[in-house]
Amino acid sequence: MEKSAYIDELTLITIPFSEVDEDLSTFTLLKKKTGEVVQIKNWEKKHEMWRYELNLTQPLEFGIEYIIKGNEHHSFQVKMGKVVRTLDFDEHYFYNGSDLGATYTKSSTMFKVWAPTATAVELVLHQDQVERTYIMNHCPRGVWSYTLNGELDGTPYLYQLFIDGDWRNAVDPYAKAVTINGEMGVVVNLFKTNPCQWRMAKRPELKQFTDAIIYELHVRDFSIDYHSGITAKGKYKGLTETGTKGPWGTVTGLDYLVDLGVTHVQLLPVQDYGSVDETKPFEKYNWGYDTVHFQAVEGSYSTQPEQPLKRITELKEVVETFHKQGLRVILDVVFNHVYIHASSHLENTVPGYYFRYNMDGTLADGTGVGNDVASERKMARKLIVDSIIYLAGEFNVDGFRFDLMGNLDVETMNEIRLKLDEIDPTLLVIGEGWDLATPLASEKKAIIANNHQLQGISHFNDLFRDKLKGNIFDITSQGFCNGNSEEKDYCKLLVSGSIKDFYPIGGVFQDPYQSVNYVECHDNHTLWDKLLYANPTESETEKALMHRLATTMTLLSQGIPFIHAGQEFFRTKNGVENSYCSLDDVNKLDWKRKALHMDNVDYLKSVIQIRKKFEVFRFLTSDLVRKNIHILDTPTDIVAYMMKGIEGTFVIAHNGGKVDKEIVLPSKGSWKVYVESDQASTNPLKIIEGSKAVIKKISTSVLLLTKK
Ligand code: CA
Repeated sequence: MEKSAYIDELTLITIPFSEVDEDLSTFTLLKKKTGEVVQIKNWEKKHEMWRYELNLTQPLEFGIEYIIKGNEHHSFQVKMGKVVRTLDFDEHYFYNGSDLGATYTKSSTMFKVWAPTATAVELVLHQDQVERTYIMNHCPRGVWSYTLNGELDGTPYLYQLFIDGDWRNAVDPYAKAVTINGEMGVVVNLFKTNPCQWRMAKRPELKQFTDAIIYELHVRDFSIDYHSGITAKGKYKGLTETGTKGPWGTVTGLDYLVDLGVTHVQLLPVQDYGSVDETKPFEKYNWGYDTVHFQAVEGSYSTQPEQPLKRITELKEVVETFHKQGLRVILDVVFNHVYIHASSHLENTVPGYYFRYNMDGTLADGTGVGNDVASERKMARKLIVDSIIYLAGEFNVDGFRFDLMGNLDVETMNEIRLKLDEIDPTLLVIGEGWDLATPLASEKKAIIANNHQLQGISHFNDLFRDKLKGNIFDITSQGFCNGNSEEKDYCKLLVSGSIKDFYPIGGVFQDPYQSVNYVECHDNHTLWDKLLYANPTESETEKALMHRLATTMTLLSQGIPFIHAGQEFFRTKNGVENSYCSLDDVNKLDWKRKALHMDNVDYLKSVIQIRKKFEVFRFLTSDLVRKNIHILDTPTDIVAYMMKGIEGTFVIAHNGGKVDKEIVLPSKGSWKVYVESDQASTNPLKIIEGSKAVIKKISTSVLLLTKK
């Protein structure tokens, strides 16, 4: 059996005792091809480390093979050890060029791949069912390059890399287009993927982050229901259909989204993922958090997954159509892990580099799905940042939602924010700032607790979610909206943007825009299903009130409101807690249910309009909150506060209790009522005189003082 030595640092090679069971007294390091000797400064037998350590005078030059000859006819193949995870390696091999991937022109295409630990790299083109192989040139900083003349648009390609004595295949980590199921990269003339009238519609206006109202949607869920009235079911195209009708002639599809009044539609992952076979797209279902290619688009939502360019065009058509209709688009992006580590193109290109490891040498798994991408390494960070800038630029989208953002590092997220600002500072960056058990220093994690280091980046506010409806990990626990008045104090904080130093308990953020307020998303039980478990004895009517109160509080609180598609008509997944690979029947947007609950939809539509109409609901900074919001003294079960803005003095009151209760208003006068009980409107519902108001059970009231 061949024995191995490992490069652990640029000037350190180790040989584990396990590779040799007798004492060695000489070592000679040689370049394998030329036989040239490389100088060893000294070596030691480190008993406590169970290894020999060979220190070199110069950093080892990468891109060529080495062997070590020991005495007693021992010979060791020199392989890549921990060196790829050292700072020195990053310093020596960081490549800052903007030309990684396949750079297409009509007359030639230049291929460049970063692979410092490979000792040979080949480009394999697949043209007309013929495979052609080209030996790539070794360039500085571990880049391999080859330029081919001719028109290569649409040509599939792969890389073959020789690393540690084995050939590995990899799809280009910078592939912009891929063949069906992402098996190969494809050279693409991106200009040809532009739909007609591309970029004709301007990005809809957004003055400030807190003007956003986000609606989270899965491409397939949106149209797959028999009753959707949409033709291209489960496809990107299904998002663009207008004039569609559902049960009893009710509006569905894109028209419905426009009518609802949300500002942003956030699509669950559309980066190419691995769990759905694109040759049989309806055989399996998945949310798509199992990314394979960072820059290529998922094929199962395309009407022609076998046509590499089609899916790009079809996603662009979604963005263009949405912009035309006044909607912005956010992409949910997954960089925290890859689908399958061992076969991932990142691992095959530079083994051991792109992922985090525990002290014992095992793969880190803070994400809980088998691997953690090491965003803090320079070329991993560059790949993530480059991918975002590519997606933002090429697809003209309006923001990103970072899955498990807490697994990424602060520097990466800030670089993303900075680069997006150059495109358009109104692009949204939101993410899950959860603190995961990944081996990265606490202060470097892009987590909620570090929001002071993350300007212009917003976080899903789990405190908001759990205090309003009960903890998601305890199925029976209740929140303010469904029977737990003890959470009242927290609610005072939550309605005010969860900012620091405003209310005595629990402040989190520097500014309200950093808080993405939500009570339901694709994860965990839908709010309706949570109520089934947490409030099993309540009637349907009472549960509907609780549900409505929670959504209303989400829409009216300071911060960025976020609702899950169908939340406005009591979306249910029939009690399924994690539906990531459940049937369409569980995940689909049920348009019949929407038709049945139009009263709730209409109410929330008005609440959305009220948020948009009055700027007091959308304070951008904590200074504005501190200056203009005043919490009122109220009976148990009721949270009420006064807000002052250019439109006047408002009182917002949320009653989580089961009886109507009176509150004292901050002053005597005529109060216009915009929201009360099950009614909401941008025109006053009525006017009440005096200094008292009755807040109906399990509901919200919004009042505006007209004159004293
Ligand atoms: Ca796929």
